[in-house]
Amino acid sequence: MRLKNVPGSREAIAESRFVIQNPQEHAGKWNEVFGRTAPLHIEIGMGKGRFLMEMAALHPDINYIGIEKYSSVLIRAIQKMEENELANVRFIRMDAEELTEVFGAGEADRIYLNFSDPWPKDRHAKRRLPSRQFLARYAQILKPEGTIEFKTDNRPLFDFALEELEPAGWEAEAVTFDLHADEGLMQGNVMTEYEARFSAAGNPICKYIIHRRDGH
Ligand code: SAM
Repeated sequence: MRLKNVPGSREAIAESRFVIQNPQEHAGKWNEVFGRTAPLHIEIGMGKGRFLMEMAALHPDINYIGIEKYSSVLIRAIQKMEENELANVRFIRMDAEELTEVFGAGEADRIYLNFSDPWPKDRHAKRRLPSRQFLARYAQILKPEGTIEFKTDNRPLFDFALEELEPAGWEAEAVTFDLHADEGLMQGNVMTEYEARFSAAGNPICKYIIHRRDGH
């Protein structure tokens, strides 16, 4: 998804009122940024923001934050927001490795991971967003009963993600290897950009919903 060299994207992001600059300053106080107290849902690696913005339009009672590492991708989400502004959405340009500096303990209610980069080499396993190293970060910023929802068409990545749950202290409350054939889990499903592309190509979509074992 990395689009190289979108001219001026860094400057546009620095000036955008939809992007929170110096997000560490808001750790533990994200309700203030939104000007109201509401559940906080975070999408990590949101790409161009299709899923996040559709979810935000459908659920105006939730505060949404979209995190994206690359300016060249984030700029596309900002352009969409300029056309159709949503009061309950903010963006942060950052690497998810810094999550615990940006959110307070137990501040978030839900995290979405959609079509995360697979990092197929073994030595890069800890960079995968559903890895045990990332699950430990999510555990810090989520409420004890908070949930993570992960979708991907990459079966090896999904199998890896399932294997990480037990050692990391999480358990699944829902798992499917073919989301679009699962009537229950499809209720309220909002397609991501990658989901639309890969399901149109005939790839089954895997999904889990997980919570901490000690949170319930
Ligand atoms: N979620 C979107 C979708 O489903 O259409 C985009 C999927 S794309 C394959 C993965 C996105 O995650 C890319 O835009 C990438 O830059 C971003 N990303 C990957 N690792 C990240 C990290 N550590 N922190 C923040 N964003 C990350």
